[in-house]
Amino acid sequence: MTIRLEAPPAAASAGRPGGGVALVGAGPGDPELLTVKALRLIRAADVLLADNLVSPEILRLAGPQTRLVRVGKTGHGPSWRQADINALIVQHALLGRRVVRLKGGDPSIFGRAGEEIEACRAAGVPVEIVPGITSAQGAAASLTLSLTHRDHARRVQFVTAHDRDGVVPADLSWTDLADPAVTTVVYMPRRTLADLAHRALEAGLDPATPAVAVVSATRPDERIVRGCIADIAERLALEGGEGPAIVLIGRAMACDEADLLKGARERAAAPVAATAGRAR
Ligand code: SAH
Repeated sequence: MTIRLEAPPAAASAGRPGGGVALVGAGPGDPELLTVKALRLIRAADVLLADNLVSPEILRLAGPQTRLVRVGKTGHGPSWRQADINALIVQHALLGRRVVRLKGGDPSIFGRAGEEIEACRAAGVPVEIVPGITSAQGAAASLTLSLTHRDHARRVQFVTAHDRDGVVPADLSWTDLADPAVTTVVYMPRRTLADLAHRALEAGLDPATPAVAVVSATRPDERIVRGCIADIAERLALEGGEGPAIVLIGRAMACDEADLLKGARERAAAPVAATAGRAR
């Protein structure tokens, strides 16, 4: 997609007071999960550059003066190139505008924030981060589960299921993924979850380890698909519907002690078809 940028006037290219950029986390979807600071900046923005992941309810919070530009990189429409997004952010800020770059979840988690910060710095534009609730936290809250657990999860790791070529990243640590005392949260799992799960099993992860997919976490169309590491990819494909999905893996993701000891093992043994339909 070619993005046409307005040429900044010569006087503005030196930078005008007032212009600046905030990389703002919009959270996983529920507008009530915005921070107070995010809400204030969204209302005051001159320009709002928003991801596809930002929910319509949140976009409606923008003020009447705000110019909204959707700069999504996913979905069925044309995709924006990161270089064009960087250029647009900088250009508006150099024109003295308050730019809010609104991102789903937290800007610093799988959000290309580093590249946008670099572009701002290179252009001498002030830039700040306003953190948001990442989808892992939104999903755990929807499940009423703790990501850490004194008995079951000493640490939490966030991993992406695909690299820039769309395959499972070659440099994921499989030893860490097979750790029985970790909660692993897999972002962008849709295309490669089966491969990721297969490799974690090969690395020694117990096939009965609970795994839960949360689709459209904290949104009205939220969907929860429960399984174990051995079958979650198949279940997500069968029962996951549309929308952004995240997968939480680990002993702490069993709904309760009984599920941990019994349910997950039953599911590991049973074919998916036998239990399909029991999505929640
Ligand atoms: N910065 C975002 C992540 C961006 S990467 C954050 O902190 O959450 C995009 C991935 O985030 C999606 O593929 C999906 O795995 C996850 N994601 C974002 N919003 C989600 C939601 N509401 N429900 C489930 N997963 C979500």
